[in-house]
Amino acid sequence: MRALPAGFRPYEWAPSTEELAARAGLDPVEIVRFDGNVPPLPLASSRPGALAAALADVNTYPHGGYREIHEAIADYAGVEPENVVLGAGGDDLILLCARAFAGAGDTVAVPPDPTYPLYRVATQLAGAEIGDDAPALTFCCRPGNPLGDLPPLPAARPLVVDEAYAEYAGETAVPLIGDGVVVIRTFSKAFGLAGARVGYLVAERATAAELRARQAPAPVSTLSVALAVAALRNPPDVAPVLEERERLAGELTRLGFAPLPSRANFLFVPTQEAQEVAERLLVRGLVVRVTGSGIRITIRDREDDDLLLAALAGDAAPSGRRARHVRATAETSVRVRLGLEGAGRVRVATGAGLYDHLLEQLAFHGGLDLVVDGTGDHETGDHHTAEDTAIALGEALDRALGDRRGIARYGSAVVPMDDALARAAVDLGGRRGAEIELAEDPGLARHALESFAHSARMTLHVNATGRDPHHVAEAACKAVGRALREAVRTDGAEVPSTKGVL
Ligand code: PMP
Repeated sequence: MRALPAGFRPYEWAPSTEELAARAGLDPVEIVRFDGNVPPLPLASSRPGALAAALADVNTYPHGGYREIHEAIADYAGVEPENVVLGAGGDDLILLCARAFAGAGDTVAVPPDPTYPLYRVATQLAGAEIGDDAPALTFCCRPGNPLGDLPPLPAARPLVVDEAYAEYAGETAVPLIGDGVVVIRTFSKAFGLAGARVGYLVAERATAAELRARQAPAPVSTLSVALAVAALRNPPDVAPVLEERERLAGELTRLGFAPLPSRANFLFVPTQEAQEVAERLLVRGLVVRVTGSGIRITIRDREDDDLLLAALAGDAAPSGRRARHVRATAETSVRVRLGLEGAGRVRVATGAGLYDHLLEQLAFHGGLDLVVDGTGDHETGDHHTAEDTAIALGEALDRALGDRRGIARYGSAVVPMDDALARAAVDLGGRRGAEIELAEDPGLARHALESFAHSARMTLHVNATGRDPHHVAEAACKAVGRALREAVRTDGAEVPSTKGVL
């Protein structure tokens, strides 16, 4: 093998979630990663169904290239398909540009530290050296990682502008491709497809053709391309991320930190004690990136970001019985965050309108904190999503109840609502059973409650009547919530049972 330059360091991955969990003495599901600069969940378009057509042809090569995605990217970026070069993530294209533009004896200019380390790695792998003297190529990272800044565009040409975070900044160098500029983009960040490894670059036609000639024959999997095409049909709305970024920045400032202004989906917080802060957070399962004399924090969402803020503020770890849980099936992916000693902070967003609302009622009246996010297959109706969400909530409840020692075990409630009247009784002793009578059921409410009871290992009796089926279901869910609130209370040492302790 040809020797690498002396002192060459390959790209270093952050530790795996399992490794971090072992270090913190936690279950991997409790680890919350603020270190990857990726969204907390996939986009709604990333469903198994999006892969069906690609799977039906997975035995073949992508003959003739990837016409559809070149056209979709061209539309999205405002260029022609001939300007687009596809790659296995932005990383693949950084490596491609380095080896296409530079070689032994050449110099490549990279941004000052701290910056994304792959420009250095790619330069050295190409046999070139880092330097600013008549560079054969200049890399620019815009927005910058890890600082989140938007540095001025260098005048040097040829220039590769890495726009991995462009969607968040809303600024691009794409109009400069006629002037010696190559722009690298990725589906890993705003499009939520980091695991699929798809990116692209945009360049003037001849440059794009030259770069393609230096690639492997089919560098991206057809499955990943299918996911990217599905995502491009419904590009992400980054507004909530930007709003949450500014909220988090404000809260960090109130705590005495000084986060730098950011144009990306992360914040850089300069601190002399970066390592200590990171260790303190890891004890709670919260993982940030230590880099460039500071910590870099990826924006997740309000609930997760609040965990980080509480830990940084030195507040006691959230007390009480809690669970994080993810359930993924062929049709849906549902994430549940549940706290039993809650304050009724509830948000259910799976896209299954009525059933989201019913679960919110159940959780609110149960005194739970509940956040459910999901991406589901609604093309065949709400059935899969409503069922999987109910199962996921039951599994999360089972997990949050732990060994169930000391809980009240039984609970019951009667809830009137306009024309409807509902009665519910639960037993959390660990036996599964559901006797659910809804007259009438708006559709899936009975099935959802049965699924919930089964996966939570509870016995649930519900009887609800009324003239309006929506009222009937809503009263039923409120009654189940009320009954649960009573049953999960801890007021004894063991779960009482005449057959002994459960
Ligand atoms: N550029 C920058 C600045 C990045 O932060 C990253 C991801 N960490 C990438 C490129 C590469 O991302 P991907 O290969 O997943 O597209």
